[in-house]
Amino acid sequence: MNLRKFGILAALIISSTIAGGWTLPGVGDYAFENIGKNVFVMHGPTQGPNEKNHGFMNNPAFIESANGVIIVDPGSTKQVGEQVLAEIKKVTNKPVLAVFNSHIHGDHWLGNQAIKAAFPDAKIYGHPKMIEKANGDAGLRWPDLMLSLTKGLSKGTKVVAPEHALKNGQIIKIDGEHFRTHYLSPAHTNTDILVEHVGSKTIFLGDNGFNKRMGLFDESSSMHGNIKILQYVRDLKMTRHVPGHGPSGSAEKSLIPFLTYLEKLQKAVTKGYRAEKEDFVIKKEIISQFEDYKDWDGFSDIFGRHVNKMYLEVEELEF
Ligand SMILES: [Zn+2]
Ligand SMILES: [Zn+2]
Repeated sequence: MNLRKFGILAALIISSTIAGGWTLPGVGDYAFENIGKNVFVMHGPTQGPNEKNHGFMNNPAFIESANGVIIVDPGSTKQVGEQVLAEIKKVTNKPVLAVFNSHIHGDHWLGNQAIKAAFPDAKIYGHPKMIEKANGDAGLRWPDLMLSLTKGLSKGTKVVAPEHALKNGQIIKIDGEHFRTHYLSPAHTNTDILVEHVGSKTIFLGDNGFNKRMGLFDESSSMHGNIKILQYVRDLKMTRHVPGHGPSGSAEKSLIPFLTYLEKLQKAVTKGYRAEKEDFVIKKEIISQFEDYKDWDGFSDIFGRHVNKMYLEVEELEF
């Protein structure tokens, strides 16, 4: 091997070592994956926020444009946002031009602080209600919650709310890339935007999409709304689906499983309600129909709460 070839080989070995991801001991190694075209996703841990995962649990993503980077959901704390930036840097040195926040849950947007600190001109977009909530009491609750769940690892994390409100169906162009927002309120929350990257036929579902993990429905949510928006997304026939948590992929792999879960739950709970059964009885009777989901993270803890939430919604609709 001549010296030049050796040099190239050595450089390749060194760069691939440097390009290794962000290691969270005992949890995993996290790096951005190119899921197609100019779209990159770092699929986070599926467990809830804790000390081991530093509160990191969502799927931060970015689109690389000609002159910059557009981020979707930069993570759960200032520190996680800094790691997200460090991992983006391993892919490209381009600056962050803009950020989309999918909804008010802090695991998705408290990383805004790190982005704004490094790129003060980056524009942050969100649902008008998300902006209102992030600037109010709900916004302030999230840094405290993260601080206690991570046992202090998120110290110094502050609210940096989006400042640009998006309308449903709005198309915005950033550095030559087109983005379209879709929303139906309430669904996962009453602050959700789904972001479509038009050029790659990718849709970022926020927490209207879960895969291999179950999540809670908060007081602003609607399971029926969540079903409707996922049916709507299915009909958009996108190529790539990025859930808020869990693996990205085709509709079949990353959209349909959670939609089917919610539709099945709606059907089974409605049937039980009409037979005048209590929700805890319904839970016991129907759980065996959900075998396909028992390995999803959080299923056993959350299933009863999902039945209860669906029951309350059905009760309200049928009353
Ligand atoms: Zn989430
Ligand atoms: Zn959420």
